[in-house]
Amino acid sequence: MEIRVNPAPPETRKEKPADEARLGFGKFFTDHMFTMTYTSKGGWENAEIGPYRPLCLDPTAMCLHYGQEIFEGMKAYRGRDGEIYLFRPQENIRRMNRSAERLCMPGVDPDLFQEAVVKLVLLEKDWIPNGRGTSLYIRPTMIATEAALGVHPSDRYLFFIIVGPVGAYYQEGFNPTKIYVSEEYVRSVRGGTGNCKNAGNYAASLYASQIAIKIGYTQVLWLDAIEKKYVEEVGTSNIFFLIGDELVTPPLEGTILAGVTRDSVIQIARRMGRTVSERRISMDEILRAVETGMLREIFASGTAAVVSPVGQFFYQGKEYLVNDGKTGALTRQLYEEIIGIQCGEKEDPFGWRI
Ligand code: PMP
Repeated sequence: MEIRVNPAPPETRKEKPADEARLGFGKFFTDHMFTMTYTSKGGWENAEIGPYRPLCLDPTAMCLHYGQEIFEGMKAYRGRDGEIYLFRPQENIRRMNRSAERLCMPGVDPDLFQEAVVKLVLLEKDWIPNGRGTSLYIRPTMIATEAALGVHPSDRYLFFIIVGPVGAYYQEGFNPTKIYVSEEYVRSVRGGTGNCKNAGNYAASLYASQIAIKIGYTQVLWLDAIEKKYVEEVGTSNIFFLIGDELVTPPLEGTILAGVTRDSVIQIARRMGRTVSERRISMDEILRAVETGMLREIFASGTAAVVSPVGQFFYQGKEYLVNDGKTGALTRQLYEEIIGIQCGEKEDPFGWRI
């Protein structure tokens, strides 16, 4: 299918944010968006890049009632060499199609999806900030638009992609986070949708996150829903523990999101000669590792922050310090390695850059 381009009239174009230090995350969006509509009769149609604009939905649009809404998060980077790079976009595209299947939504042709991302990013390339660690955030989204009540898979969908400049996550150096281990609330269950990027997962996580924030913690560390024993992920990131010389991360068993950064960390660490285990890790094991001095580093991984050191955690009424609350050497090294590949500063032995 051909992607039509309908440029936004010049007089409607927004002023680009002047101060890159104040971009933050998710506050600015560009002048154009990609849209495409689906009907069960005609499949995907009307692929177009047009002006960024509000959506017009019937109040009964099914996404508003029964939560058929999925999304992705990826970034475009301006390299030091002046090129513009995407990082492993096919992984996000595959993951979105897996989310679609689980939520009974239609898949999108991966080539068309990538072409839409590339076209939109290139059209908006002047919006990509310059500073190290800054990027153009890309948010592909699919919503159910059939106007009807009654729980069933919608027969109409809208797929759209919006993009916006985001700032460097670490402007004043690494700032280790404090995490709260939630025993009362869980994020997902086996057989549920924990491995999908659907809006409902995020709505369900807000309550525990608010509790964590109220008592001074940044993120929730989620445990498994049945035994409340094994670590799953942290906030909206995957999690890694350096115990002795073993780098451990929970396995993909359907309850956590298969992070693109998680996979990149695993591959890079292995290439560095590290032992990486994807295995269950219990809070008991972590506490034992704290007692014996074997717990060296904890960090979270995700598109937003790349890797984010954890300096402290709260569990069953007690606070535990990790690496004296400081950023560990491996965390720092992995951050530099990934960001270097993403923005074209370093060699890309994996062929991840596009
Ligand atoms: N877990 C959850 C729940 C997330 O929302 C994200 C962010 N997409 C991640 C993990 C990290 O995934 P990625 O590395 O692909 O950004």
